Order: sequence, then C-alpha cells, then structure tokens
Amino acid sequence: MDFNSTGNKVKHGILGLRNKKKKLVKLGTALGLAAVMFYPSARNDNNSMGASLVSLDEQMEEEIGFFPIVVPTIKYGLVLDTFQVEEGKIQKKQTLGTLLTGYGMDLLSIETLVKNASGVFNINRNFRVGKDYLLLLDRQTGKPKHLVLEPSVFEYVVFNLQGELNVQKVEREVDTKLKSVSGEISSSLWAALTQNEVDAEAASKMEDALECFVDFSHTQKGDRFKLLFEEKLIAGKTVGSNQVYAVSYHREGKDYYAFWYDDGVTKGFFDAEGASAKKGFLKSPLKFTRISSNFNPRRFHPILKTVRPHLGTDYAAPTGTPIYSIGEGVVEEAAFTKGNGKYVKIKHDKTYQTQYLHMSRFAKGIRRGTKVTQGQVIGYVGSTGLATGPHVCFRFWKNGKQVNHLREKLPQSKKMSPDKLNDFYKIRDNYLMMMEKEGVIDEDQFFPPSNETLDTEGGAAP
Ligand SMILES: [Zn+2]
Repeated sequence: MDFNSTGNKVKHGILGLRNKKKKLVKLGTALGLAAVMFYPSARNDNNSMGASLVSLDEQMEEEIGFFPIVVPTIKYGLVLDTFQVEEGKIQKKQTLGTLLTGYGMDLLSIETLVKNASGVFNINRNFRVGKDYLLLLDRQTGKPKHLVLEPSVFEYVVFNLQGELNVQKVEREVDTKLKSVSGEISSSLWAALTQNEVDAEAASKMEDALECFVDFSHTQKGDRFKLLFEEKLIAGKTVGSNQVYAVSYHREGKDYYAFWYDDGVTKGFFDAEGASAKKGFLKSPLKFTRISSNFNPRRFHPILKTVRPHLGTDYAAPTGTPIYSIGEGVVEEAAFTKGNGKYVKIKHDKTYQTQYLHMSRFAKGIRRGTKVTQGQVIGYVGSTGLATGPHVCFRFWKNGKQVNHLREKLPQSKKMSPDKLNDFYKIRDNYLMMMEKEGVIDEDQFFPPSNETLDTEGGAAP
C-alpha cells in the first residue's frame, strides 16, 4: 500500500501534528473538538482536506500565538492523532504473526485475528513483501491497537487488535466520469497520452481499439488522437478507467476511428462504417514498441558479419514484455533452436503462418497444438538464440514463403449486421460530437446502445 496514494499529504499531516506536539498545551484537545465543530469538513476522510486544515491550524496558531488548536486527522475511520503511528513495509519472511508479536501481541490473539480475517481478507495473498502497513499503537502503553493494510487503492482493511479482534474491509467509493481528451504526438504516443492525463489502462484500451488500423510502433510527430472514455476516480484522483467508447487517430492526412458498440449481442469496436475493428491480423505482436530492424532480403548481419537476408521484422522491447499472437490460430511449434532461441510458430489458416523469435519464455499453456486467439499472450520478449539484445524477430509466411507483413494487404473483416447499423450510426455520431469537446462530458449527453432505438427509422444511413 502506498499511504500516499490517496493523498500525499497525510504523512505530512501526521508529522506536522506530531512535531507540534511539544508546543501544544493540554487545552488543545478540547479546543480541537471545538474546531471540528466549527470546521465539520475535518471529519472528512479526505487527506488533502486534513492537510489543509493542518495549515489552517498553523495559520491560526501564528495569528493568535497562544491559542493552539488541534484538528484531528481522520483516516481509515480512525482519529490517527490519538495513536502513536508506525508506518512500515512488510519485510522478507515477515508474517502477520511476526509483525504483531514484535509489538507484544500474544499468539492466541493473533490466531483469533487470522480466523476472523478469513472471508474478509486473504492474508496469504495480500500480506506480501514490500507492501506498506500502518500500525496504530496506544500512546501510553505502546500496545498495538489497529493495523491497516491497503490491498489496492480501491479498498483498505482494518485489523482491530484489541477487544473482539475483528477485521473490517472498507471499499472506497469509486466515481466515474465520462471524459474526452485529445493530443498531438511530439515525441512518443506514451508521452502524449500521459501529458493529457490519460491513464495506462485507457491508453492500452485505445491501442487495442485501433491496433488493426494503426501501427503504433510507427507513431510520428504530428499524429493526433482523440479519446472518449470513462475514468475511475477516488476522492477526485484518477485510479484507472473503464470503457473506452471512441477513439480517433490522425496520421498523414488520414483519420482512423474505432467506436465501441455493445447491445448485449453484438459487442466490440467498429470503424466508422460499422466494420469490425478486429481484422484478420494485428499490425504488430507487441504494444508500445519500435521496429529496430526491417524486413530486408540483403541485410548485413550484426553478429555473423555477413550479408544475410533478414526475413523478419525486429521489434525492440524490454525483456519480459508480453508478445501477442497477431491472429487466431494453432501453435505449430513452441521450441528452441540455436539461432531462433525460444520461438513460437502459429498456423492461422491455409495461407498464413507467423513466427516469434528470441523469447525469454513461453506463456503458460503454449505448446504444440494449443489454440490461440488474436491478441493472446504467447510468450515474453528475450534475447535467446542469435540476438544482440532483447527483441522479437517477427516472421510472416504467406503460402509457405516469408514476406514483409507490413506490405501485405491483409484480409478484411465483416460488417455488423445491417439491422443494427442505424443504431450504430446514431451512437457513432453522438460519440463524434462528444469527442469534439474537451474534458468532462455531461452524462446526460451520453446514450448507450439499445435495441429500443432499432427499427424506429428506416435505413437512414449517413
Ligand atoms: Zn530478426
């Protein structure tokens, strides 16, 4: 857990109060309560609020001089200031038991606590090395009173270490907002997305939506994108995203679109004309990557130092990056040779086969005969075999002959069924309108696909 994740200022809030402890007279507590009454927002579990109140407190102290006021820092449903607060990270080989016995808790109580945690919190899975914890101790006795863990930004768990020894999980309230962003690429797509505060989840979904139209390993300066998606927020902070509804990408005078459509039967991304965005093949077997060596029948080999045809396209990426099958098919080979290293070869149909070389390892379950879907992870980038560094050498066969897949006209996919097109066009136009705006979109403007809008107008395709 990162206790700073929901508000960097908590720590400062606590420390601020702690540091001031010496300056405060006992009167402080009583006045603190008065302050809560005057500033009811102090009860809020929002950290930045707590922090701003601390500074308000400071300000008042400065102004009035002898009139110190403590405003409680309330977090995890607890008044943190009434405890001695210990923050730490779970160490190697440390267990809940060793942590708590270290603070003088007896084994029988710990056993009860673990029992009470079952069904609420999976200790085995979530009590892991490197995770943060917050321990609240009695200020007088030093005995542990509460332990707080945060398995994810979406929830926290309070272990009550006295009394009934119960364990409570609290799920944080997640707000969603429909958001429209646009940007232009000046260095990389990733940079442009983060500059525009698009979280990694939405960025990845955007790539998924357009991967059959746009080769993202070839992004260029001046490319532009627009994105309409639903953002997830906790206490006003982005924590991820749900659905991406629409994407447009502009490159060299051409616009590419993908629109999300889901009426319960037909589901997926479609282009502006209602053709499925999932074409026969993906453009590249990796995400967020670059081509380090093109298909070249007369390449000078960097290791062998001779002219040797390079009948593949090399994509450089860090070791461990997932490699995707660019299409549906069956694994023909998952093997190792001196030159290829660990590689996977997939047969897609009578015409096409693809091969992925130099893997560090295969994905789980990938072996000869395994059926794979488009976009399925089949292995991870490595540098096994004849490779100067971590990359995938990607090879594409057409009728048994290796060809440059970037030059191929690949099979087109089908359109959505005609009876749904009117509904789809309406939704598409609505998305387009919303994409013209920037920032948070009024939810009232949003209407999801529905069967009710079907057949209300006859064949008015734009
Ligand atoms: Zn290669």
